[in-house]
Formats: sequence, structure tokens, C-alpha cells
Amino acid sequence: MEYSNSCGVILKFVVVGGGLAGLATAYSLKKAGHDVLILEKSDGTQRSSGSVPSSPNMTKVLKSWGLESTLDTIAQACTRVNFLHAESGEFLGALTAAVLDIVKKDSVAGFVFLQHCQLHDILLELCLQEGVEIHYNVSVSALEPEEGCIMLEDGGKICADLVVAADGFHSILRSYVTEEDPEEELESEAKIVLFRTTIPIARMHQHQSLQGLGTLEDWDWWMGDGYVVRCSVTNDGQDYTVVLVHPYHGPVDSNTMEWRQAPNTKSYGVDITKLDGRLRKLFRLSNNLTARVYTSPRAAESLVCPCSRVILVGEAAHPVIPGGYHATAMGFEDAETLGSLFARIQDRDQIARITTAYDEIRLPRATYVHEYEIGYQGVLKAAQGPVQQIRDQRMRQLGAFNTGAEIDEDMILEGWGGELMLITHDASEKVEDWWGQYGASIMKPASTYSLPDVQSMRISIAENTTSASPSVSCFAIPV
Ligand SMILES: Cc1cc2nc3c(=O)[nH]c(=O)nc-3n(C[C@H](O)[C@H](O)[C@H](O)COP(=O)(O)OP(=O)(O)OC[C@H]3O[C@@H](n4cnc5c(N)ncnc54)[C@H](O)[C@@H]3O)c2cc1C
Repeated sequence: MEYSNSCGVILKFVVVGGGLAGLATAYSLKKAGHDVLILEKSDGTQRSSGSVPSSPNMTKVLKSWGLESTLDTIAQACTRVNFLHAESGEFLGALTAAVLDIVKKDSVAGFVFLQHCQLHDILLELCLQEGVEIHYNVSVSALEPEEGCIMLEDGGKICADLVVAADGFHSILRSYVTEEDPEEELESEAKIVLFRTTIPIARMHQHQSLQGLGTLEDWDWWMGDGYVVRCSVTNDGQDYTVVLVHPYHGPVDSNTMEWRQAPNTKSYGVDITKLDGRLRKLFRLSNNLTARVYTSPRAAESLVCPCSRVILVGEAAHPVIPGGYHATAMGFEDAETLGSLFARIQDRDQIARITTAYDEIRLPRATYVHEYEIGYQGVLKAAQGPVQQIRDQRMRQLGAFNTGAEIDEDMILEGWGGELMLITHDASEKVEDWWGQYGASIMKPASTYSLPDVQSMRISIAENTTSASPSVSCFAIPV
């Protein structure tokens, strides 16, 4: 889809980081009419065969970029989410297609899985076709935000009108916007290690105990005390991706904070002997285990630096607590929002106003998702006790719907309404709404422009709820 507005001035953007969010943002800005250069520190071959969940809010963006038929070919639909105990193996309940239809009611786009490597390739191709320039093996070490200049590790310097920081969860550029101390982040108490492996389904099904797993269109969530295991089918039904999200107590350095091959979970101090036998077997079958350590993320208070020249996107902007599935979708929403806003710029004088618009549109959403994920995962990983008991009871009720009981729509919406709001978010519609209210004022000559009242703007674009802060998330259980 071409943006209907056409920019009146061509700006130079440097995007730092060529991961999914960086590629998506570069494409979106280039499509809006600007010059875009991506600087990526790796050689560009870093991909994973693991699956990336694309919730309707992300699928919608991909479709609007003309990828509908590509998705029809490569995406794996998700029509059932199963909840099981990670240790006893008990099946508690499932969100089936009938229930999911209530949850995603107004959403035209589906919930699908894509392989990380495939999605990466598709975005790269879009970027190259559109004319984005990409430089690999270029590591950015610092910024001069006021000048829009980037300092490279090899001593070079590149200047642009705007810098987009898409350098991931442990972004070094984030602190230029948020003024956080990255060292403090490293010292954070709660660390998480994420393991990922992909197992060929044919190999897995040679084992009788695993034959009930790996059903096409199913997403299995195994819930443990403080941890969770997520499994889904990808690669045209050929592979099963297993992701274990577990607390981590070992040392943190630049090595552990990147995706690395791991011999086993023990090498990260994680004992899996307590897991259900099927999960243990899956890990035994794995010969491509990778791991990455995450520090406890904090929600940013701003996504744009005070001088309006540095913008955060993707996990650099909102490092959501690992283990959920919103991290990638948020990067696509950022990309769509930025492209859609910068397609409307007519004069350099408007840069600060457009970046303010980005901040105003995306920050409440980012804060909402951040808090939601903390609550949601608190419930999923609840230790044995009252929260876990209520959670399990709610999930067993879901199980009853699957055996023919009439679906109680109110109960579904009470338990899953938060999820509904997250996955039906429409990034371009939010820009349209915002522009409808404040666009005329943005387009005024600089001398006559005054910022709209920030408070009223935030309220106008808060999630379609009465509050920008999520009430208790999943299952309405206080955590
Ligand atoms: C190799 C890899 C495999 C992944 N596999 C999966 C998967 O299977 N399933 C899943 O759900 N998610 C996966 N993810 C995570 C997923 O892509 C992200 O959670 C999400 O898409 C957010 O993407 P991002 O672009 O913000 O961050 P990232 O994907 O982390 O990308 C950040 C990019 O910035 C680059 N970078 C960092 N610092 C600098 C610097 N100083 N200078 C220049 N470049 C820099 C990094 O090399 C990286 O390419 C993977 C990520 C990576 C990098």
C-alpha cells in the first residue's frame, strides 16, 4: 500500500540495526518518500528457524504492505491455544477457534506464525526493492544527538536528519532518549534466559509419547512455577519450535546477551528435570539449542530524544518482558506509525512536531503493553497458590467449552478482553485518528504552531478503554 499523503521534503534517515524492526521501519520510511540507510553490526546472516508469532495487529501491517499472498503461502495459522501444566503435564483447557473468534471479533487479519528467517528475508527484499541502502559489519558506538550524527566503532561518523534506533532489547542508543544508565540495567536483579530450539516433526513423532504434540495450527503453552514453555509448528508443518523462558541467576555480559548456541540448559544453570517427560524429551531431541539472557526491562518514558533527532523503535523502544508474543508486533506498529506520519511532512520545520506525534501515539500503547505483559506473565508463571488455582479453574472452564458447553461470551471477554485490545490494535487507524484531530495544527507554519494539550492527546489515543493503564490482565486475577 502506498501512503496516500506524499511528503514535501525528502529527509535522510539512518536506521541503526537491521533486525525485524529496523528493516520494517526502513521500508516504511522509504515508502513514505525518504532516503534511508541501515547500519547493521552483524554480517546480515543472523537468522533463526524459530517461529515468530504474528498477531492480527502485525498481520494487518504486513498485509497492508502488499504481503497478503506471501502470507497465504508461508504463514502457519494458529486456531487453538492449549494450556498445560509444565510439570504434571495436565491439560487444563484451550482457546479454540470458536473462542478465539470472540476474542478477535473485529479483526480482519489472522493470528499466524512465520519463521524468523523467512520474515527477515521478506523484509530485506522489500527494503532492497524500495531502494533502502544497507551496510553490514558496521557497529555504532555512540551518538551526537543534537547534530544527528552517529559515531562508528571504526572511528567513522555519519550524519543524518534523523536517527532511528532499532538496535534491539539491549540497545546502546536507548539511553540517549531515556537517559537511563545502561550499567544499572545490567545490575537489575530479575534476569531471564530464553532458550529456543526447532525439532523436525517427523523425528519427534518417531517417539510415541510425543505423537500428541505438534498439531498444525496449535500453540501449546506449558505453565510452570516461575517459567513457561511455548511450542508451535512452523516451516510448512515440518518443524516444531520450543521456547523455554526461565529465571536466570548467572553472570551477564555482552556474550550472554546475544543469541548463542547452547550445549544444554544446564550451561545456563537451568535444571529441566522437573519438567513433564514430553518436554524433557523434546530438549533431548534438540540439536540446535540457542539461548539469550535478558535483563529486566523498563518501560521508556519517551520514545524521542529532546532534540527530536533520535527515535526509538522495536525492542530498543519497548523491551517487553521476554516470554510473551508482543515484542515483534510492536516493532511493526512502530514502523507503520513512523512511515505514515513522515509521509505527511511538508517542511523541515515540522520534524519536531511529527516526532512528537510519534511519541504521543506510541508511548501510551508501549506503556500499556509493557504493564499488560508483566501482569499476564505473572499469571502464567504463578507459583502454586491462590493465583495459580484461580487461573487453572478459569482454564478448566475453557476446557468445558471445548466439550460442548455453551460459550459464555462475557466470561471470555472478562478473561481475555485485555488480549483482545492488544491484538486488534490498528496502527494506521491510530495515526489517522490522531491526524484528524491534530494534523491541521501540525501543518501550520512554525511561528503559529503551539503544541496541542498533551494530556488530551494521550487520552484521545489511549487504548479503547477508559484507562491507559491495564486493569489486571488475563483472567482478571490480581497479581
Ligand atoms: C538472530 C535473531 C534470531 C531471532 N529469532 C527469533 C525467533 O525465532 N522467534 C522470535 O519470536 N523472535 C526472534 N528474534 C527476536 C525478534 O526478532 C525480536 O524480538 C523482535 O523482532 C524485535 O526486533 P528488533 O529489530 O527490535 O531487535 P533485534 O531483532 O534484536 O534486532 C536488533 C538488530 O540491531 C543490531 N545492532 C545491535 N546493536 C547495534 C549497533 N551498535 N550497531 C549496529 N547494529 C546493531 C543487531 O545486530 C540486530 O540485528 C530473533 C532475533 C535475532 C536477532
